[in-house]
Amino acid sequence: MPDTAPAGLSSAEAARRLAEHGPNRLAETQVISPLRILLRQFAGFLVLVLIAAMTIAAALGEVIDALAIGLVVLLNGLLGFVQEWRAETALAALRKMLDPKARVVRDGHQQMIETSAIVPGDLVVMEAGDRVPADITLHLALQLRVDESVLTGESLPVDKSGNDAAVHMGTSVVAGRAEGIVQATGSRTQFGQIAELTGSVGEKQTHLTRQLGVLARQMGFAAIALGGAVVVAGLAVGQDLLDMFMTGLSLAVAIVPEGLPAVVTITLALGASAMVRHHALARRLQAVETLGAASVICTDKTGTLTENKMTAARVWLPGDCAFTVTGTGYDPSGHIEGPSGPLRHGDDPVLSELLDCAMICNHASLHQDAGQWQMVGEPTEGALMTLAYKGWAPLPDPACVLSEEAFSSERKRMSVVSTCNGGPVLYAKGAPEAILDVCSHLAGPEGPAPMIGPARHLVDTAYSEMAGGGLRVIALASAPVPGEGAAEENLTFLGLVGLIDPPRPEVPAAVAACRSAGIRVIMITGDSPVTAHAIAREVGLPVTQVVTGDRVDAASDSDLRALLAQDVVFARTAPAHKMRLVEALQAEGQIVAMTGDGVNDAPALKRADIGVAMGIRGTDVAKDAADLVLLDDNFATIVRVVREGRRQFENVQRFVRYLLSSNAGEVVAILANLFLGGPLILLATQILWMNLITDGVTAVALGLEKATKDQMEDPPRPMEAGIVGPAGLAMILAFGAYAGAAGLWVFYMLLPQGEDLARTAAFTAIVVFEKMSVFAFRSFRQPCWKIGLASNPLLLLALLLMLAAQVAAVYWPPLQLLLRTVPLGVEHWQMIGLLALPLVLVPEAVKSVMVLRGRHGPA
Ligand code: ATP
Repeated sequence: MPDTAPAGLSSAEAARRLAEHGPNRLAETQVISPLRILLRQFAGFLVLVLIAAMTIAAALGEVIDALAIGLVVLLNGLLGFVQEWRAETALAALRKMLDPKARVVRDGHQQMIETSAIVPGDLVVMEAGDRVPADITLHLALQLRVDESVLTGESLPVDKSGNDAAVHMGTSVVAGRAEGIVQATGSRTQFGQIAELTGSVGEKQTHLTRQLGVLARQMGFAAIALGGAVVVAGLAVGQDLLDMFMTGLSLAVAIVPEGLPAVVTITLALGASAMVRHHALARRLQAVETLGAASVICTDKTGTLTENKMTAARVWLPGDCAFTVTGTGYDPSGHIEGPSGPLRHGDDPVLSELLDCAMICNHASLHQDAGQWQMVGEPTEGALMTLAYKGWAPLPDPACVLSEEAFSSERKRMSVVSTCNGGPVLYAKGAPEAILDVCSHLAGPEGPAPMIGPARHLVDTAYSEMAGGGLRVIALASAPVPGEGAAEENLTFLGLVGLIDPPRPEVPAAVAACRSAGIRVIMITGDSPVTAHAIAREVGLPVTQVVTGDRVDAASDSDLRALLAQDVVFARTAPAHKMRLVEALQAEGQIVAMTGDGVNDAPALKRADIGVAMGIRGTDVAKDAADLVLLDDNFATIVRVVREGRRQFENVQRFVRYLLSSNAGEVVAILANLFLGGPLILLATQILWMNLITDGVTAVALGLEKATKDQMEDPPRPMEAGIVGPAGLAMILAFGAYAGAAGLWVFYMLLPQGEDLARTAAFTAIVVFEKMSVFAFRSFRQPCWKIGLASNPLLLLALLLMLAAQVAAVYWPPLQLLLRTVPLGVEHWQMIGLLALPLVLVPEAVKSVMVLRGRHGPA
């Protein structure tokens, strides 16, 4: 067995062992190589068809066509590669951020370290919700239950008690606490030998990609039918077979938005990495998309709306003695202010017992690091520990603890039996209701007295007063007991401690932003109704009723729906209530984001449309169940990522609509021309050039639009809202009809001067039209002067580059050869420019009028 001291390993020894055993990590799960990504670009069905066409063209001696197709396929592949590589590296970075942490004792004190830094011999401390970081032999297991389903497939948690129980990497602690020594790490663990951890960020199927996949398939069939029809129609009017085959093929390629699902994945992946800048980690790409549609955010109070930096501010003892406590944070240099100066342990027997209880019934620890006081553990416990330090309570010997009943959000209290002060005493702390339930006496200077009506009334009044000021109130109690494992009953109530946990300063603005965006915010807290109400008021949440968990239990489904129709806050809830509330809200058609941190929150997080786990406070189990992890635990972050989610969806919508409108222009021109019976208006290589190069680059840049100012002023989009939508379809058809008709007009105007010139001009005209129409697709209701002309510089750059590419296509001999173009004169450019103007001016004018009239246009 690897040896270790009770103080844990020293940092130096840990470093030596890390070098010897290597990091505690399983072999990296499949890293996708750049080469594979590159090859993947050439494996799509349509690209394969193009490569086949290229081969046929080459075999028939059409070297130039073959070269042109080859060039387009290559450029398109490179564009796809660059995008996908960025997305892959962004996802890899996200996966790395999901690396969990574990609590170990090193150099004599507890600390959180990266799980990968754990070495054999480390002393590890685990509690409910922790993932077991390595194979560990336990020397302490308090009511420990472990979910071993990953290893055994057994879905019920297993009790682990007794000496020398072992727990294994990959399993998770469902209840209780444990300490033990690491036996094996990394691939030498049982888990490492039988399985590989799967990183779930890799899941790329989202609602949107599926929806687009369907769209792409439908358009694929349409394209094949249309392409076939064009070939037949062309042959009927006497066109050349090879020309028509190439045209039909290019048209099909033009229509099929084969790349769309991939582009969406890329956009969402880049969106996910943008979210990291807002301190949120999307574990599934689906989250990025769904967030934009969120209509209700159910949030915890403690740590999400509030800072979770707790400080004991008030102490109340039976007999109605109230004291204030000075100092902030976990620096124990403040005092408990008595009537004649600071109070210390020993000055008052009840206070002394309360401070002993605060210190003994506690797992937090304080230590100094570079002159700063650091706390390891839960903030509630840290605050009580700091209070005990301020009152100079003596440090207990950890060996005195005989047994413990662990804290849970359901019980809302915990207790330990300790022999620190002589005979065994049970010390309990928890929510006042939960402690008063097990108290029969009240402490007093003359010893415990039965808790009768008026005395109990004083406790309730003191409790409501503290809670009404927004304090989090913890009650403490104790009683001598026969020995370990004694029941929590007939305790003596010692007093109340009021903890300050101020709301985060940015929360009121975030709550207001949600309200203007039509998103409801519902607080669901384990804390008391009075505290919950006070904090809700402070952050600007409207409250018509505070509903307790008991009432949720008693309510029928229809009662619950009626309650949810009001401005409610839920207090004294247990995690199971969250599940019921999510289900009730979803039954009403809401898209629900739900926060959680504990192991028992996991089912509700899974059930919610967007499960949001806390990155700092959250347990590993909650993080595993969530779609989104808040790196700073902050409510305001959820609102920022909702905004980001809305932006991502709109960007996908922008480029889908834009790409389809460009394709529509080409289809209109080609089909109408076939009916008119003229010579080919666009050659196959020209169509490929437009679709795969010039439109592709512009669409990607359009997908990088910044959030518009009014993004959070609209109600959430319905989840089933299509990407194109009726208004989008109208816009696509209008732009397509105009571009197609204007292109045809150019073609027939110039046809008398020569077919090559007319075709070059029509080809260039359609490219320019497509480029110019991009401004209309930037926003569906805001004119460019409102969005900011240069607010998406990449779009302007892409436009300039693509126009330059088109100039090169017309004047640069190698491209002239490939695309069969001839030089255009100034008058041709003028004609094209004039025809392009309405594509910019009309939509801008319409949107300006709408904005000036203060009306919203179609989304
Ligand atoms: P939220 O649900 O908003 O995060 P919460 O932290 O109050 O709020 P729980 O963790 O379920 O929710 O705690 C419920 C109650 O149990 C708390 O209000 C507090 O009174 C009590 N409590 C919290 N932590 C402890 C602890 N470590 N020991 C004893 N009692 C505790």
